[in-house]
Amino acid sequence: MEVLYQHFIYINIIILIAGATSVHLGASFLKRERHTKGFFKYSVFLLALGNGMCCLGYSIMSLSPNLTVAYIFRVIGLAGIDIYLLAEIILVTSCLNFSRRSELFIIGLTSIAVLFDLVIYGHPDADTFIRYDQYNFTTYIRNDPYRHLFHYTYLAILIFCMLIIAIVWAVNVKYKRDRKLVFFAYISNFIFGGLALPDMLKMQVNILCTHFFFCLGIFFAFVVFFVSANNYMAFYITVNSISRDIFSTLGTGLLVFDTNYHLNLANEYANKLLGLDKQPHRIRLKEIFELKSGEPFKMFEKATEGLALDYRLTSIITQKVILVNFSCKMDRNNEPMCYILVATDLTEENRLIKEAQAANEAKSEFLSNISHEIRTPINIISGMDELILRECDDEAIIGYAENINVASKNLTSLINDVLDIAKIESGKLDIVSFDYSIDTVLRDCYNLFINEAKKHHQSLVFKCNSKLPKTLIGDEIRIKQIISNLLSNAIKYTQENGKISVSIDYTVTSADFISLIIKITDNGIGIRKEDIPHLFENFQRFELQRNRTIQGTGLGLSITKNLITLLHGTIEVDSVYEQGSTFTVRIPQRVSDLTPIGEINDYSYTREIRKYESTFIAPKARILTVDDVQMNLDVVCGLLKKTQIQIDCALNGEEALSMMGSTYYDLILLDHMMPEMDGVEVLTRLRADKTNRCNAAPVIMLTANASMGADKKYLEDGFTDYLSKPIQPAQLEAMVQKYLPVEYISHTQHVTEVAAPTGSDLMHSLNFIDANAGLDFAAGDEDFYKQILTTYKEEDKRPAMNDLLAKEDWPNYQILAHSLKGTSLTIGATELSAAAKALEFAVKEDNLEYIKEHHNEVMEKYGQLLEKLKKALK
Ligand code: ADP
Repeated sequence: MEVLYQHFIYINIIILIAGATSVHLGASFLKRERHTKGFFKYSVFLLALGNGMCCLGYSIMSLSPNLTVAYIFRVIGLAGIDIYLLAEIILVTSCLNFSRRSELFIIGLTSIAVLFDLVIYGHPDADTFIRYDQYNFTTYIRNDPYRHLFHYTYLAILIFCMLIIAIVWAVNVKYKRDRKLVFFAYISNFIFGGLALPDMLKMQVNILCTHFFFCLGIFFAFVVFFVSANNYMAFYITVNSISRDIFSTLGTGLLVFDTNYHLNLANEYANKLLGLDKQPHRIRLKEIFELKSGEPFKMFEKATEGLALDYRLTSIITQKVILVNFSCKMDRNNEPMCYILVATDLTEENRLIKEAQAANEAKSEFLSNISHEIRTPINIISGMDELILRECDDEAIIGYAENINVASKNLTSLINDVLDIAKIESGKLDIVSFDYSIDTVLRDCYNLFINEAKKHHQSLVFKCNSKLPKTLIGDEIRIKQIISNLLSNAIKYTQENGKISVSIDYTVTSADFISLIIKITDNGIGIRKEDIPHLFENFQRFELQRNRTIQGTGLGLSITKNLITLLHGTIEVDSVYEQGSTFTVRIPQRVSDLTPIGEINDYSYTREIRKYESTFIAPKARILTVDDVQMNLDVVCGLLKKTQIQIDCALNGEEALSMMGSTYYDLILLDHMMPEMDGVEVLTRLRADKTNRCNAAPVIMLTANASMGADKKYLEDGFTDYLSKPIQPAQLEAMVQKYLPVEYISHTQHVTEVAAPTGSDLMHSLNFIDANAGLDFAAGDEDFYKQILTTYKEEDKRPAMNDLLAKEDWPNYQILAHSLKGTSLTIGATELSAAAKALEFAVKEDNLEYIKEHHNEVMEKYGQLLEKLKKALK
């Protein structure tokens, strides 16, 4: 002992170093595991801190000659022991599956005990400090046996509790690594407990430097625990423990290059993807990917600048297309440490893109073929229809023909919609800009929709800022298409009696440009907020149940949006559900003539008669028309009949070529798609055969093939011009006139008969119903319409319906309501028709209450209508 006392100063220094070491270990453990979740790392740090404070406190106490300073450091040392014990309790409880509450309860209780110990055992009365000058150290002797007793009882209880908790822990653990940790926690506590014995027995045995033992005890206890905690953490889920696995098993290639631009690390996936397994270790970027000279250097340079860029590269060895993300990792001094390359295999993606492209091309091909197939019969229908309109004098038949005309136009527009989508999707929709006046566009749109609006008793108002420049430069057709699409929706999705308005305004954006503002407002059904983001998607239709009677494809708005984008414009939607919608379109347009357009008071056309008059005759001209369908030949011949041109027809290419060989034709109209020899081949042979009489004659392609870019192709193939089917009479004549020798053509007087000012007296007197709709149903034949009205007036169904209601004969009542619905609709009494329909449906749905409530009201309306009809028909 004497020897020990004489060298105690060194021993105190060793204790001090041990304390500092443990704090360092604890802090580095905390830093290393900072990414790990949970309390484990904090508990280990607290253990180290407690150990450090204990060693520091007691060693300085022992070194200090001043007894007050010695007392203060002893309290610090005691606080260290308490922190150590508290840390152990926290650690052990956190390793167990205790509920959060129990955990907090145990920790709270221990903290209170620790505080008591600090106050009671850390009190100045607990010990007396003595300085041994001969040995150069200070120590304490017990002053108050009760405080001493308290301290060790407190320790005993704490250790006992810990033992219990540790036993529960030991029983519950499943894995070896957990058992190991429990075992070492025991060992560590035994070491600490064992070396604390001298201090406990200090009152009985006179040992001066007991702190030496328990300081060494707490240090070794910590070291044992720290080593086991370290091992335990190696199993614990930490960034370090799994990063290597992640690196090697990741389904993405990872390559790390050093600052000499050599490959340093590559994971397994990268090795396989890039075929690096067979390569020597340190290779360069240009030996991995196909790169031009200088390119790798640029990649490194960009990465060093802090950019993480994507490249599409091809592997030299595997020839795979790889998406490469290349970035630089900087060190603490913000200097390049290494370069990281993330490689993603695009082979599958490339294959899918190619497949998708092929599918898209097949779709376009299909669409253009199908449109060709559909256009051919429509061509015949509308051509024949045109002939009927020209040659027939029977008004009823002209009326039917007009209906056919409208239907075929609708069908053509549907095909055009589908083709437009295909063109837009493949980026082949061209925008053609010419001078145009917006008032023509507005008039066209107004007249296109006014009847439809009237049919639904909707008011359609067009407004145009009178200061708008008169002539603009832009794609008139597309602008008309945009307004038509939006207007058609406004009419479709607005109830009877609704209001629709189209307003045109503008703002000047520069000297030559304005922004054309088109606003289409309705007070219709509106669009739900959640549907608005999907409004412009293809084939999107909303509230299908509610709108089931409204026809649509869900393509209109998508085409509209795409057209507006192509015109560099924007579209906004402002809609309140159940209240209405406003679509605002802004399109930049160049100004051609700044003169203001002025007030437009009336948007309706003066109705021109349908009969088309030829503008010229050319009896000396001779043309050949070639088509494999006889009806098509009939259409062309019929349309050109009034021009008195001599027309020969051929049904196939072979026949056509032989006719051309023997007769000279001033013009040849040649169909494209023909079996055996198509139009292109006929032309090629004709041009190749120098002996053919028509070798140099102009040849016009007649085509129903509206596929993208086909027009240009025909000209490249050597056709003089082309005309698309269905053939428009005016276009055909203009084309023929353009290519026939001028001397053959003599102009006729073009007569435009203007129809009688809108409607007869009868039509005027029928202002209480939609007489136009009624007249449409009567195929435009006014006499026929009058006849229907008379029959309607005479067939008063009221007595019978009243009778059936009284008898409650519902099946027969339904039949009469159904018939009233139909006949009223036919004469244009849409409101009464709807009321009758409601009665009919009420019977179907067994809603007798509704019938009883509304029958009289409907009958009254019916009576009033009959009265008015009587007056009108007088
Ligand atoms: P559709 O051929 O169905 O009319 P669109 O693309 O033109 O196709 O419109 C898509 C959907 O947007 C419609 O089905 C309808 O539900 C809604 N919609 C479009 N315009 C309006 C409007 N003015 N009022 C209410 N709903 C509208």
